[in-house]
Amino acid sequence: MKKTSSIKTTNANMVATIPTTESNASQDKLLRLTEGCLLQLHQRLQGTLDTGTLINRFFSWLSEQQLVDGIEYIHPDENLALSAGTKKHHNVHYVLRLEQHYLGEITITSQTRFFEQDLFTQEQSIGVLVHYLKNAIAHQALEKVAFHDSLTGVMNRTALDELLPKETKRAQRYGYSLSLLMIDIDHFKSINDRIGHIGGDAILKQVSQAIQTQLRNSDLPFRYGGDEFLLILPNTHLDGAHKAAQQIMVSLNKAMVEATNQEISPKLSIGVATYQHGESHEELIRRVDIALYEAKNNGRNCIF
Ligand code: GH3
Ligand code: MG
Repeated sequence: MKKTSSIKTTNANMVATIPTTESNASQDKLLRLTEGCLLQLHQRLQGTLDTGTLINRFFSWLSEQQLVDGIEYIHPDENLALSAGTKKHHNVHYVLRLEQHYLGEITITSQTRFFEQDLFTQEQSIGVLVHYLKNAIAHQALEKVAFHDSLTGVMNRTALDELLPKETKRAQRYGYSLSLLMIDIDHFKSINDRIGHIGGDAILKQVSQAIQTQLRNSDLPFRYGGDEFLLILPNTHLDGAHKAAQQIMVSLNKAMVEATNQEISPKLSIGVATYQHGESHEELIRRVDIALYEAKNNGRNCIF
């Protein structure tokens, strides 16, 4: 059975749980990484704020120093689970902290046993990595705030302005189909009047959840305005977009029937538009807006 032990390092406050190695080398006989080597690592990690890129670069650098087959990095609070290389049997696990900030956990694996020199090199290298991870995680958190709606958790208008032009260009360049749904809650003002603003907020969250349960991985949901949501459906023709709209309505009705408070049953009007070759993203938005307007004019609770 594999035994584990813990070692604590000084430079980055890491706690490592490692399989016991058979090496008897004492710490003072271990070789420190040279200044040049550490500088090279800094250079490798500079210039990106993307955690995935950092882990890949770190893996490639560490592989040049010692026998390493794979690296896994997780940060559950930030929804990060990344890996590079291939997972192998021998492993060393580091809990990363910098100035008391938890920065996730890294597991380094190898087909062959690690020796104390390997661990010593890893500790010094991770001591560099943590500074870059800290910045990347902070950047990611800022991006999340900047691009997401705090009430419903879906992306906001700023994110839409960034992503819609990219998606329409992609559809045009590669000839992919692309559809938009614009969804507006019917008579939401009177819902607010009846159950108050906080109750109205809860309805907005329920609508957002009903939308998200029906999405494929590639679909992109946004809160477009007060009670309006916009969905980008890549690789989706008009028929598929109508089906998706129908499913969202069914999903919302089902959720409201299951909800404890059944006095309110919000309905949706949905406009649908499919990208036409050569048109701009502004034109596409204009057409889906008109479709929604028509759904409203046709008595609401319908898809146009
Ligand atoms: P229609 O069927 O024509 O869409 O009627 P409506 O009453 O839904 O009209 P409209 O879409 O213009 O109204 C949107 C309302 O949404 C107005 C505003 O008070 C409310 N609203 C906007 N943002 C929020 C929010 O964050 N929370 C809550 N509770 N209400 C909001
Ligand atoms: Mg409305």
